[in-house]
Amino acid sequence: MTGDGDESSGSVRSYHVAWFITDEVRRDVTVTLGEGRTPDIVPGRTRDAVELGSVALVEGLVNAHTHLEFSRLTEPFPATGRFTDWIRRVVQYRRENPGPTGDAIRAGIAESMKSGTTLLGEIATIGWSPEDYSESGFGGVIYQELLGLTPERLIQQAELARSHLAGIDTAPNRGLAPHAPYSTHPELVQAAVDAARRFGRPIAMHIAETRSELELLAQGTGEFRELLTEFGLWNDELFRVPRRPMDFLKVLAEAPCVSIVHGNYLEEDELRFIAERPHMTLVYCPRTHAAFGHAPHPWRRLMDMGGCVAIGTDSRASNPDLSVFAELQFLASRHPEISHLELLHVGSGCGRIALGITETDNCNLTLIRLADPSSPDIEKTLFGPLNKVFGTMTGKRGSPLSMTP
Ligand SMILES: [Zn+2]
Repeated sequence: MTGDGDESSGSVRSYHVAWFITDEVRRDVTVTLGEGRTPDIVPGRTRDAVELGSVALVEGLVNAHTHLEFSRLTEPFPATGRFTDWIRRVVQYRRENPGPTGDAIRAGIAESMKSGTTLLGEIATIGWSPEDYSESGFGGVIYQELLGLTPERLIQQAELARSHLAGIDTAPNRGLAPHAPYSTHPELVQAAVDAARRFGRPIAMHIAETRSELELLAQGTGEFRELLTEFGLWNDELFRVPRRPMDFLKVLAEAPCVSIVHGNYLEEDELRFIAERPHMTLVYCPRTHAAFGHAPHPWRRLMDMGGCVAIGTDSRASNPDLSVFAELQFLASRHPEISHLELLHVGSGCGRIALGITETDNCNLTLIRLADPSSPDIEKTLFGPLNKVFGTMTGKRGSPLSMTP
């Protein structure tokens, strides 16, 4: 249990809310949450119900992609210059902060819960311990980041991948995250996929984030070549053969559950490749995408093809906060033609698919305070700019939920 509010131990609680939105949409109901995943819902307000007022109780929000190690940053690094300059800032920050990352991870988890996020897809690098997550009420997947281009590094990182997944009994759900095509040797990506298959765990990888990444893969030129040369990592052999994101998608598709992170510059056939595979999800990070001034994101095209799109915040190195709710408000304001219920599905159910958490043994709900409860059109108002997250309700099936705050 978390928070300082209603930690009702053992008792079943009923709440009267203006809206209840999961697979179904109900208005003016009392929700009894004692039975975990399948709450009882009755019309109107029952006598014993706690009045929550103008609140929508919705499927729990999911942040399918973040890096909590940067959660101590008070503002993102500048994203207006070259992408590799932003990467240099990230590398510099890590060098200047070499110690344990536990404080940042705990701060990031607390911030996420406060903003209504119930599950996270967290990319963990170095300096973390399982307790940073287990003692903070973390729900979601810890993806061990893997990166390296040299033969020595490849062997060491492949071993890290296996040992991370073998530690599955001592920590929450684990996965693997080969970093990106410009930083991760294709053989290491293959080793990660092999380990993910062996342990039945999810995998996530940044793919097609920038045009310069595509240039490096296709021609072995551009700002990434400069960066790798500067870091003493340039490998002529490796980038001599022309490649494209599809080459990575085909390898990743062998894993049981796959998040393709960003995908800002995926081509039509690559989007179709993802859309045709229910175990692959595109994770779109809306405000990070906007901060870097990328070309319009293809998330709608993938959805039109029947594919699954989830939402990530990425980290505080590229985003002002870790709120998925704010990401959905951002999308709602820029795409008034999209139903807010569809946005909710993207920000919750699709996120669970991305993380491979589809079993129903946990109940996760987010409470949203509605600025205009009289509006009958929740499809256009759920992520209105004046609405605020009010708390979360989480718990295991069959036991009472705890409510935060
Ligand atoms: Zn990322």
